[in-house]
Amino acid sequence: MVFSVFFAISALAVVGPFAAFGQQARGFDSSRAWEHLRQFVAIGPRPSGSPAIEQSRKYIKDQLAAIGLKTVEQAWDDQTPLGRVHMVNLIATIPGASRNRIAITGHYDTKLFREFRFVGASDGGSSAAFLIEIARALKARKNAVTMEIVFLDGEEAVIEWRGNDHTYGSRHYVEVAQREKTLPSLKAMILVDMIGDRDLGIRRDSNSTKWLTDIVWNAAASLKLSNYFLPAPTTVEDDHLPFIAAGVPSVDIIDLDYDAWHTQRDTLDAVSARSLQVVGDVLLAALPQIEARISR
Ligand SMILES: [Zn+2]
Repeated sequence: MVFSVFFAISALAVVGPFAAFGQQARGFDSSRAWEHLRQFVAIGPRPSGSPAIEQSRKYIKDQLAAIGLKTVEQAWDDQTPLGRVHMVNLIATIPGASRNRIAITGHYDTKLFREFRFVGASDGGSSAAFLIEIARALKARKNAVTMEIVFLDGEEAVIEWRGNDHTYGSRHYVEVAQREKTLPSLKAMILVDMIGDRDLGIRRDSNSTKWLTDIVWNAAASLKLSNYFLPAPTTVEDDHLPFIAAGVPSVDIIDLDYDAWHTQRDTLDAVSARSLQVVGDVLLAALPQIEARISR
């Protein structure tokens, strides 16, 4: 398993200069994203309200600062079945030609398990790592619209996924945006979750907005990556639902078909840099069409 991961990175390193030739010089660099993922896993379990998630926040803010991005903290205390928990969404804005926005989001908390050590390499780690690297790629890109990178806290249930015990961060983000009347300029939301699976297979979520899902899956097809972005349907409850309920077109890019899901096996062995690269390439290929659609 370690060999394959090594091979994937080596292969990318070899292919990189050729792939970049004649195209946009800068794209999504999975070797950077992989290093972020490794750092998150090294921090250990990162449940909401823990000292370890505070350490993750510091890491995210430091990485964003290093590429010239300011991080805004959206902090609050939320009521959970385990009492009040301090939560923080992190938001970085990359100005574009238009003030209309696309939010690229994902969660950075990991689910609380007391019975085993859960480091969430894919579930929490992959999305957070991906967002740092996509922020770097978008900072170097000419964006037609403003890009907002949102690291969501509290996606995971503190006990069990029912009632309101989940998606604390996305619900809070939407509540604040509604109160501050900033939602009308948010034209699309792209959610990534559990995209590290080394056996990547992302199915089309029927809760997601159809036109946005079509653009993303068509971009994957144009890159000949339909073996990862599968035509098969699924139905997922995740951080996109509060946005959809508020009228923001949203798509969830998630691989829930993951053996190690919510187990102590969600470690570096179960994920790969190649999977992060696939999602990064597809998202960057889809963006021009999403920008065109929301600008017309
Ligand atoms: Zn989870």
